[in-house]
Amino acid sequence: MEPKIIDGKAISAAVKEEVRAEVDRLKAAGREVTLAVVLVGDDPASAVYVRNKKKACEAVGIRSLSYEMPADTTQEKLLTCIAELNGRDDVDGILVQLPLPAGIDEQAVIRAIAPEKDVDGFHPVNVGLLAIGMPRVVSCTPAGVIEMLVRSGISIEGREALIIGRSNIVGKPLAHLLLQHNATVTVAHSRTADLPAVAKRADILVAAIGRPRMIGPEYVKEGAVVIDVGINRDTATGKLCGDVDYDAVAPHVSAITPVPGGVGPMTIAMLMKNCVELSKMR
Ligand code: NDP
Repeated sequence: MEPKIIDGKAISAAVKEEVRAEVDRLKAAGREVTLAVVLVGDDPASAVYVRNKKKACEAVGIRSLSYEMPADTTQEKLLTCIAELNGRDDVDGILVQLPLPAGIDEQAVIRAIAPEKDVDGFHPVNVGLLAIGMPRVVSCTPAGVIEMLVRSGISIEGREALIIGRSNIVGKPLAHLLLQHNATVTVAHSRTADLPAVAKRADILVAAIGRPRMIGPEYVKEGAVVIDVGINRDTATGKLCGDVDYDAVAPHVSAITPVPGGVGPMTIAMLMKNCVELSKMR
């Protein structure tokens, strides 16, 4: 069976095109969509993520403000910066790049961001709204997964969906989103008994684990849709790879996302979309 390869690059480009049109429309109405990006410390991976997010802003016409603070920044100073951004009328979204240096309480920082400016959808108020079925801003990666499924014409309603991974940023919010789309949802994790048997039931299997190529054909039902959220560095080749053993699994599925070029590009596109949505809501 030839699987459909779900092209995250193409779908994210379409989303960004729509965001761009919205940004232009708002600009014409006198409102410049603005995202404040806060980076604390000198973690190289975080620096790359922040750079990519700023580039994406530029590409869709969103103004980005950059706040770079040294690794020894105190929590108090960071909270003061956030409070100032909360109060600024010209700022629509606030993004604090995680992880934060040791000594700063990440949850306290997430809670300090005004929920109406929480572009990542991590604030407990936004998480709660999602949980009660009234989503406002949703974590970008799970939102991107849903967008990919919907835009690829993959039906979700009534199907068995399995998410492997229960993190606050991917697994749990995705479970809520899939429920909202009327899937029958199972969430698996490191303590799940007989994962291959559980996984074999899934019509839609999402891997958000962080283990290079862990998911082989023994986990996958014939004809399933497989979404690979994992971004891992293959220790042997140094190349990026997902949580799914793509070459081994692809012949057995009806659709699959590659890594790179799958969920990754969707995450940034949804961040841009969230920013515009927040601007419109205010
Ligand atoms: P976390 O480390 O927070 O969560 C990993 C989850 O996988 C946990 O729930 C853990 O279970 C589960 N798990 C670990 N080992 C196993 C196992 N052997 N069997 C079953 N479940 C297991 O990771 P994230 O959710 O933050 O990220 C997951 C992956 O997605 C990573 O590769 C990350 O790089 C990638 N990612 C990609 C993004 C993108 O834009 N494409 C964005 C965010 C993340 P337990 O809870 O029991 O420990």
